[in-house]
This record gives sequence, C-alpha cells and structure tokens, in this order.
Amino acid sequence: MRELLCRIPDSRRKPSIKTPIIVESALIMMVTRMGSLNALEQDKGNRFWMRWLGCTLPSADTIGRVFSQVDVDVIRSCIHHVYGRLKRNKALTKTCGFDVLIIDGHESTASYLRCCSGCLRRTMHTREGQRTQYYHRNVIAMLSARDFPLLLDVEEQRQGEDEVAAAIRLIRRVLKNYPRAFDVVVVDGLYLKANFFKLLVAHGKHVIAVLKDERRDLMADARGLFSLEEPLIEISGNTHRKIWDIEGFSSWEALDRQVRVVRSVETKTVRRQLSGKREQESSEWIWAATLSQKEAKTQVIVCLGHDRWLIENKAINEMVTYWYADHVYKHHPTAICAFWLTLMLVLNLFRAFMYLNIKPQRRRRHSNLYFARLISSGLYDGTLQKIPP
Ligand SMILES: [Zn+2]
Repeated sequence: MRELLCRIPDSRRKPSIKTPIIVESALIMMVTRMGSLNALEQDKGNRFWMRWLGCTLPSADTIGRVFSQVDVDVIRSCIHHVYGRLKRNKALTKTCGFDVLIIDGHESTASYLRCCSGCLRRTMHTREGQRTQYYHRNVIAMLSARDFPLLLDVEEQRQGEDEVAAAIRLIRRVLKNYPRAFDVVVVDGLYLKANFFKLLVAHGKHVIAVLKDERRDLMADARGLFSLEEPLIEISGNTHRKIWDIEGFSSWEALDRQVRVVRSVETKTVRRQLSGKREQESSEWIWAATLSQKEAKTQVIVCLGHDRWLIENKAINEMVTYWYADHVYKHHPTAICAFWLTLMLVLNLFRAFMYLNIKPQRRRRHSNLYFARLISSGLYDGTLQKIPP
C-alpha cells in the first residue's frame, strides 16, 4: 500500500511535504472519523504524528491544496490493490452464485453560496424568489460480497449530462480495471436505458433493473401477461411472496433483444411501535433482467433485485452518517473526487480488518461503531501503531 501511495504524483513544483505523507494524513483523519481538515489540524500537537509520519502533521491548507492537484487514478489503483488481495484470499463471496456489482447515484453536497468549476446547477423556487443552487452528484460502483460489500469506484456527474451518462463512464472504467470481478449489474429504474444495457451485454455481463415506468410498453405487456399466469408462492421468514416470472419480451424495441420480467408482490407482518398492533405491509417489485430462466432461477432474480438496497444501507447511508462522506473537505472538483475515493479505500480496509482480523465471537458482541471508536482512541493512547515492514 505504501509503495502505491508513493506513486501518487501532484503538479506542485517544489513540494516541501511529500504527497504520500499528505494522503496518509487524510487516510488517518478518515479512519479516526475526525470529520474535517480543521479538526485534524487541531490534533497537530499529538506526538502520534511524528511517530507515524516521521514529520509534523501537514496543515489543513496544504492537504486541501494537494488533494486538488492529485492524480485520482492512483487512489483508484490503491483500491484495486485491496480488491486483488481480498480476491486472492477468497474473501469475496458470491451472492446466489453470482458476482454482483451494484451501481447507484448520490447527491453529496448542495449550496446557494459556494461553487466550483465542477458544480452542477439548478434553479430552486424559494421564498426569496428563484435562486441558483450548486450541487455535486456522483455515481458509485460497489461489489456486493455477502459478508462485506466492497466499494470499487466513483464518478462525478458533469455539467450538462445526466446520471446515466456518468454511470456509463464509470462502467467503462470498471470493465477495464475489473473485467472479471462481476457477472451481473443491479441498478435502479433510472438505468433502464438501452445504451446502458447494450454496453454491459456487449461485455458479456447481465443486468437486472427495477422496472417502474408504467408508460413503458414493456410494463404494459408484462402486466397483461401476469394477469393470465398463476404466481409462484414463496414464504421466507415472515414475508409471503407471490412471484410471476415471464421471459421473451421483445416490446423494448430500442434494446434489440428479448428481456425477462419478474414481479414479486410481498406481504409481511410488522408490529407498529406506537400502538403495538400487528399490521400487514404490502409492496410490489418488478425487475427487467437479461438473465434467462435457465441461467438464474426466479428466486435468484428476486434475491439479486433486493440486493440493490445494500448500496443504500451498507455504502451511502453508512458513509454519510458515520464517516462524513458528504463533508466538503475542499471545494474543488478533483479534491471532492479524491476525498471520496480515499474514504472508499478507508472503508474497504476497515471492513477487511473487521471481517478477516476480528474473531466472529468478538465481532458479534460489538457493533462496527465500537471498533471504529477503538481505532480513534488509539490515536491518543499509543495503541495505533505502524506495523513494521
Ligand atoms: Zn462544486
């Protein structure tokens, strides 16, 4: 890892502090969940930094400036290095027999006051009249390994393009860097676009996308046929599912190939917190998939389709709530991407440490937050130490 960090170049003429030291400082700031560069600077007096870095802690300004100039592809190669190690150690498990990649978009920041050359703009109708709001949106790619999901890459949405265009750029890079890491891509209904599907199918990958646009011919045809077919009944825990599974739909003309549509009407009993009463909750899920019935059973499509929530729960929500992912450490397009990639690297390392180094009995007794706090406290009690080479 340190060798990879040493390869990180920046465009400064005469750097007084080497870039790997700056990236390592940011990495520790994130793993100890300080939340901002100013909070990190407050820790300057801690003797830990001299022991760890071999020099004093760089200032908040220096870290922000270097992250605005850093080559983000080298941070991507650090993430790839972690993926390679986990793959070799067989730590990445399949989901229902498939290696699954989940793609989703996330709005990371919005402001009326501060903007940069990479900011997206929209007009908001406020009490003071129409105002321009500046925001950043990115698309994240995550491998859905059962024990710990692995964050692979992020791509910032650019001005004048939609989320799918950014996702296509991300997918092209992921296909190049991780050609054999996944067989199926699971996405939201927004990605039900012919060019997105065609790109993945051309590279031998399958796609499962939520089908939610009632105006689509595909949806109308599927609903017509579902009413004529008897559903498959499946009971799992307290969830009762009625599932319909029909393949051979050719009504999505732009795609130029047949797709399969799976519908799951799910009912589960929940106890209301306020009244304590048990009530039934129903939901309907419909997915369009390129996998045939021979390649994946009905239950597999339902399981993989529901896996899409992992990116919400185990990536975006966790990153934002506990790891300050939406904090703008430095408002610059390169810096925003570089800090996101650094956090992805930190989270992958943290999860690998949790699942591969901590014994299951101990892991079961404590939450992830407990171990994250232990690491943070190591900054002050001397237990956070560099492993000798
Ligand atoms: Zn901006």
